[in-house]
Amino acid sequence: MLSLYGKIFRTGTLTERVPRPVRDEAVEREGEKLKAIVGKRFQGSLAIRQVDAGSCNGCELEIHALNNVYYDIERFGVHFVASPRHADVLLVTGPVSRHMQAPLKRVYEATADPKWVIAVGDCAACGGEFGVSYASCGAVANVLPVDGVIPGCPPMPIDLLRGLLALFSPRR
Ligand code: SF4
Repeated sequence: MLSLYGKIFRTGTLTERVPRPVRDEAVEREGEKLKAIVGKRFQGSLAIRQVDAGSCNGCELEIHALNNVYYDIERFGVHFVASPRHADVLLVTGPVSRHMQAPLKRVYEATADPKWVIAVGDCAACGGEFGVSYASCGAVANVLPVDGVIPGCPPMPIDLLRGLLALFSPRR
């Protein structure tokens, strides 16, 4: 046993040093503004429920990126929740497929007031490539009242941060 301890002390640390995290200045700046608003208006915790109403998943990849170690949106007081009953904001990607029309309305009804709906991506904003057809209702606004739109195909994580800021900035 003593020889084992001796070997441990002689060997020292073999793992690599953890690199300093790289931070994007724009993300830090916009994130801190959002954090201040979330602190004032939402007691420091803004809950988002994301709803895929028919997207190609390109928008979801960018939304997921908000939770990775680079963007780490939770440090600004914003977190994603599994149930609309716990959400302040619905982040909806689309276009809204006909199959998702009724479930999307149910999600909206299940979300407590006050609530905000943000249409994310060109498809959710206006129907995008898909428009309105036998299979698609087109824009989210054709199904639900929409409070904010974040355009792009897909919008980048910084655009999502800016979209949240624009919706909740004091001038509104
Ligand atoms: S906006 Fe672009 S990335 Fe987003 S769901 Fe539509 S096609 Fe896909």
